[in-house]
Amino acid sequence: MNRIFPFTAIVNQEKMKRALILNAINPAIGGVLIRGERGTAKSTAARALAALLPKIRVVADCPFNCDPDIPALMCDNCRERLERGEMLPVAERPTPFVDLPVSATEDRVVGTLDIEKAIKKGERHFEPGVLAAANRGLLYVDEVNLLDDHVVDILLDSAAMGVNVVEREGISFSHPARFILVGTMNPEEGDLRPQLLDRFGLAVDIVSVHDAQARVEIIKRRIAFEQDPEGFYEEWRPQEEALSRRIEEARHRLPLVEYDERDLFTIAALTAEFEVDGHRADITILKAAQAHAAFEGRTHITERDILLAAELALPHRLKRQPFQDPSTQLAQLERRLDEIQHRMEQEAAAAATAGSETTAAGDASQDGDEEAAKKAPNPLMRPRRAP
Ligand SMILES: [Zn+2]
Repeated sequence: MNRIFPFTAIVNQEKMKRALILNAINPAIGGVLIRGERGTAKSTAARALAALLPKIRVVADCPFNCDPDIPALMCDNCRERLERGEMLPVAERPTPFVDLPVSATEDRVVGTLDIEKAIKKGERHFEPGVLAAANRGLLYVDEVNLLDDHVVDILLDSAAMGVNVVEREGISFSHPARFILVGTMNPEEGDLRPQLLDRFGLAVDIVSVHDAQARVEIIKRRIAFEQDPEGFYEEWRPQEEALSRRIEEARHRLPLVEYDERDLFTIAALTAEFEVDGHRADITILKAAQAHAAFEGRTHITERDILLAAELALPHRLKRQPFQDPSTQLAQLERRLDEIQHRMEQEAAAAATAGSETTAAGDASQDGDEEAAKKAPNPLMRPRRAP
C-alpha cells in the first residue's frame, strides 16, 4: 500500500493543523480554506489527516457510508430497511478521502434521481454522487477558486447542513453528507467571491517556512520518508495513533462542552472590534472553541479557546480597507494569545514552587479550566501518547 506522509511529521504550519483537527472533531464548523502557493504541503496535510482518523463502522452495502448505530443519520434506503425489520450488514472502513476534480458538475456532486424509472416502474432510483462517497470522510477540493461557483455553493451548504437532498419533479431523496471540507487555493490564480469566502468555516494562510532550522528538519523528514516510507511511518506511528485517539475522544466529549453568557460576550466583542458583518463568524468561533476545549480534554471553553478559534475564523472575513493591513489586525490576536500563554506559564511556575494549589491569579475571567489546560499541553505542537 502507498504510505502517506504522516500528519504529525509535518513541520510547523500549526494553524493549518489546528484548523484541520478542529474540523475533524466537528465537521459542522464548515470546512477549512487553505490559501498558499504551490508546494506548501496543502494536499499532503489533508490526505494525512484522513489517513490517521479512526476507522468508521458503516452499513456494508450502503453507498452513503451510513452509521449502523445511528438511525437518525441514515439515508432513506437504510431507514426503510430498518423499518422492514432487516438486519443491516456492518463493515469497518478507513475514513474516506475524496478528491473532487475541478471539472465536477452539479450532477456529479449531488447525484441524480432517475425520474424515468420512477414513473415507469414506480421505484425510486438514485445514482450517488461525490457527496455520497464523502459522507463521514474528508472531501478535498484543490484549486477551489477554479471550480464553478454553483458547485462550491452546494459543497458549502452540504458541509454546514450535513445532509444532501435531491429533488426532481416531486420526487426527493436525501442522505447524510457530513464531511470535513478542505479547499485549497493559490491566491495568485484568482480569488473566491466574498459571498463564498465567508461561508468557509475557517481559513489559513500558509506561509513558507523561513526559519533555517525548520527548513532543515523538513528536508530531513522528506528524504527519510522517500527512502523508506514504511520505516518512517513506523517511527511516527505512536504520535499518529495518539492523535487519532485524541480526536476520537474529543468527538465524544464535544456534546458536553459548555459555554456561558460571558463567553458569548467575549466572542461578540471580538467580532465587533474586527468589524465583521453578519453572525456566521461568531457562531463559527463558538463551534471551533468548543472543539478546541474538547480536544484539550475540557468541558468548558476559555478565553484562550476563543482566541485560538478566532485566529482561524477571522482572516477571510476581515473587510479589506484602504490603509489597513489585515495582518496587523490579526497580530493583535496573537499578542493577546501570547499574554494568556505567558500568564498560564507563570501560574504553572507559581504552582510548582508553591508545591500545592495556586490561588486565583487575580483574573476573574478564568475558572479552573486553565488548570486542566496545563495538564494537557498543546498536542498540536508536540503530539504525544495519551497517558
Ligand atoms: Zn444508508
